[in-house]
Amino acid sequence: MVCLVCLGIWLNETNQINQINQINKTNQMNQMSTPQLDKTYDPKTVEARWSQFWNQQGYFHASPTHPGQPYCIVIPPPNVTGSLHVGHALNHSIQDILIRWRRMQGRNVLWLPGTDHAGIATQNVVEKQLLTEGTSRESLGRERFIERVWQWKATSGNTIISQQKQLGESCDWDRLRFTMDEGLSKSVMEVFVRLYEDGLIYRGERLINWCPRCLTALSDIEVEHEDIKGKLYSIEYPLEQDPAIRLTVATTRPETMFGDTAVAVHPEDPRYNRLIGQRVRLPLTNRTIPIVGDAILVDREFGTGAVKITPAHDFNDFEAGERHGLQRLPIFDRQALLDPQGLKTADVDQGIIEAIAGLPASKARLKVEQLLKDRNLLTKVDDHKIAVGKCYRCKTVVEPYLSPQWFVKIKPLAEPAIHAVEDGRIRIIPEGWTNNYLGWMRDIKDWCISRQIWWGHQIPAWYCRHCNKELIIEETAAIASAALSPSARLTILQGAIPIVGKTAPSTCPGCGGQQFIQEPDVLDTWFSSALWPFSTLGWPEQTPELKTYYPTSTLVTGLDILFFWVARMIMMGLKFMGDVPFRDVYIHALVRDAEGQKMSKSKGNVIDPLHVMEQFGTDALRFTLASMASPGRDIKLAEERIEGYRNFANKIWNAARFAHMYLAGIKESQPPTDRSFPGLWIRSRLNDTIQIVTMELEAYRFDRATNVLYQFFWHEYCDWYLELIKPVLQDPVHPQGPATRQTLQDTLEVFLRLLHPFMPFISEEIWQTLPHEGKTIVTQSYPVPRTHWHEPSAEETFRLFEQSIGLFRTARVLLNYPPGKEVRVFVAHQEPAANTTLGALEQDLAHLGRGQISPIPISQWPTSNVLRLITGGVTVGVSVEGDVDLKKALDRLVKQTEETDKESERLDGKLKNADFVSKAPPEVITDHQDRLRALSRDRAMLTSSEQQLRAMLGA
Ligand SMILES: [Zn+2]
Ligand SMILES: [Zn+2]
Repeated sequence: MVCLVCLGIWLNETNQINQINQINKTNQMNQMSTPQLDKTYDPKTVEARWSQFWNQQGYFHASPTHPGQPYCIVIPPPNVTGSLHVGHALNHSIQDILIRWRRMQGRNVLWLPGTDHAGIATQNVVEKQLLTEGTSRESLGRERFIERVWQWKATSGNTIISQQKQLGESCDWDRLRFTMDEGLSKSVMEVFVRLYEDGLIYRGERLINWCPRCLTALSDIEVEHEDIKGKLYSIEYPLEQDPAIRLTVATTRPETMFGDTAVAVHPEDPRYNRLIGQRVRLPLTNRTIPIVGDAILVDREFGTGAVKITPAHDFNDFEAGERHGLQRLPIFDRQALLDPQGLKTADVDQGIIEAIAGLPASKARLKVEQLLKDRNLLTKVDDHKIAVGKCYRCKTVVEPYLSPQWFVKIKPLAEPAIHAVEDGRIRIIPEGWTNNYLGWMRDIKDWCISRQIWWGHQIPAWYCRHCNKELIIEETAAIASAALSPSARLTILQGAIPIVGKTAPSTCPGCGGQQFIQEPDVLDTWFSSALWPFSTLGWPEQTPELKTYYPTSTLVTGLDILFFWVARMIMMGLKFMGDVPFRDVYIHALVRDAEGQKMSKSKGNVIDPLHVMEQFGTDALRFTLASMASPGRDIKLAEERIEGYRNFANKIWNAARFAHMYLAGIKESQPPTDRSFPGLWIRSRLNDTIQIVTMELEAYRFDRATNVLYQFFWHEYCDWYLELIKPVLQDPVHPQGPATRQTLQDTLEVFLRLLHPFMPFISEEIWQTLPHEGKTIVTQSYPVPRTHWHEPSAEETFRLFEQSIGLFRTARVLLNYPPGKEVRVFVAHQEPAANTTLGALEQDLAHLGRGQISPIPISQWPTSNVLRLITGGVTVGVSVEGDVDLKKALDRLVKQTEETDKESERLDGKLKNADFVSKAPPEVITDHQDRLRALSRDRAMLTSSEQQLRAMLGA
């Protein structure tokens, strides 16, 4: 791959050249004449233009030969069926912030994009399409169906990629990967074969979670658990020896009793232990089953203390069955309907089989209840809460189902993955999730990796047709489309001997036969995504990319896939690369609606990021999401918040337009030194902002970083700095003019670079209108703090200044002066040095305080008709003109005092509430304490003002 950035080669397609020329022309024009910013910011045109430019110029292209320490993120691959939702928008915005920031820091950055083939989800989409065409997956056959899926992918599979570009994601799009690509599929086969050869993959008949609608196995974490109202049935099982004695068994699932192969009691339960070893007659069947003692399965306190064991239909019973060597009798078919064949094998009465065959579990339960009642074998039915599992895709109740499946033996892989987190080679952020990870990993169960679908990586195992003759069941198309088993084409029974390899074997080592049939199952989608950090970099080839970018730097992910994906990547990375796949795992919260509800189409509370981007601009959405990425569990997103940050973008735009009114003609010649108070102060604040933003980015506190950027620009830069320098700018011959304009321009330029990772579009658009070197802000350096910008004295001066202005404004409000009215004002400080400082600020105070400053010492201030306000050493006086309605002023003051008291009481109450103090985050407590102190200062000032006003009224 030729890197356009490092070789400096222009793309040579005509239309691209034209566009580039167009942009260059604009740049030159901007540098030579008065730059133009439209009256209002129009995100739509600006975003499309820059997105295209960045991609065409190859700024996001990575190369192992680029200089700088590598920094790599692999994107959590969205489903190929996906469309950008707000969860993606958050996840991707955070990654883009990190990537753009590190790129500007001069790191060799790679953000590797891609999509996941999403087995069941994609298969479902295409199957639905076929249905509308009046055909089906089965009638197409496996090969043609898979072709159809690829066709679908080619036409509509990359919707999300263009949406990602719209969000401004600076991925290296030349390296777009797909989990079913040739290269990635090669990695998958390699890993499967190696794990099999190491004895870490096996095929076995196990009870697995089965979705009777998707007709596939599901891994434990693909099952969502839920408690529902159910019943506890007490059923009597007569003793074989003496049918008058009956053992009462408690169960929530009477319909599975046909598959019972034992009854268990606690070996130390005096009620029953003498019965262990005897047999009971299983009602509704012609079988007797043993009574066994099992301390693990039986809870003496539960129900009657005797439980049935149904190894083929319950996970705990399956294990108990293993302990006691019990037979497994499956009685439900793959659609979770009672199977006549299975019932027959279980020796159920023929009459009963006829009554119940083909019923689903829920209906069978009612039927069995009736059958038992008729026979006087049901003693009791109690209400009882039962836990059911549901398919995470289609919400159908999942059934435990006995079938041959492929498993990864996980403990040997989990051990090193536990150590990697324990010893800090991988850092989970926020740290609190570390224990969740460790707990889950220590308790991990073998991973069922086979899925009975067609779309995915077909398992590289073959069976000799001759050796496994009895165990290979191929159904004809007619049977396959029959109601009972719509997708059954080929079943390889338990006991068949697989030959595993990257390619089909040529001869059978057993019989020399040459006819094979490939395992029909495909791998769990998460199997291929577990390899993502190295398969995407070219493994098993030792590519320069793999050497440069592995281990990757940061993984950004939601909590919901910590186990599905993150844990498995760690296990696979350690196994096959001998090193962790990433250093930091940053886990962000999940986005919910403003009330904290999960967003869902049925509730109608979905915020569509594409709609929001259209309405408020992409930068506003990105900034909002970053501002809410605090370490909690949920993000409560309301559109108003996005609107608020749209206003922030507009504020930046307007500030830039204001600056441009005065910046024309500035050359980058000798920059004059700006030693004025506003200049020194704003540079010091900017320096501080750079320091904090960088620190917060390093700590993954995007919420705090955005807050600091916002506060700096809105309140310090716009509210104070631009106001302070207005008189200088507006005076064409002001001696401070050139220096002030230079500072105005420099600080704006630095701020835009600081902002760029968060708001890439508006920052680029404005930056291009300022004098600059280079073609884009994307590749500029990220601002670093400069010690000589740090000015504690200017910051102290500002504090005095802000305090004084605050008092002026309070007084003006109390006295009801219209905003523009000029009045006589005085200011003094009890400390001589501070007093001198304030004296030097007279012009600025007069300007922002809208008053005429009287530069006289406090001892000479008029004693009457001046309202004095004092706080923190500063005293201001504002003349009370003859037309002031003192009575009304006093009323306002009393009202304000009351409000202050009310608010103080409220805060004080909260701080005295032990429950609140124990639950609130420390920064909230500190904030409350600060506000309470400020209110108490205000209260003192109000009291003194009240006295003064009363005195004036009395006079
Ligand atoms: Zn399902
Ligand atoms: Zn053979």
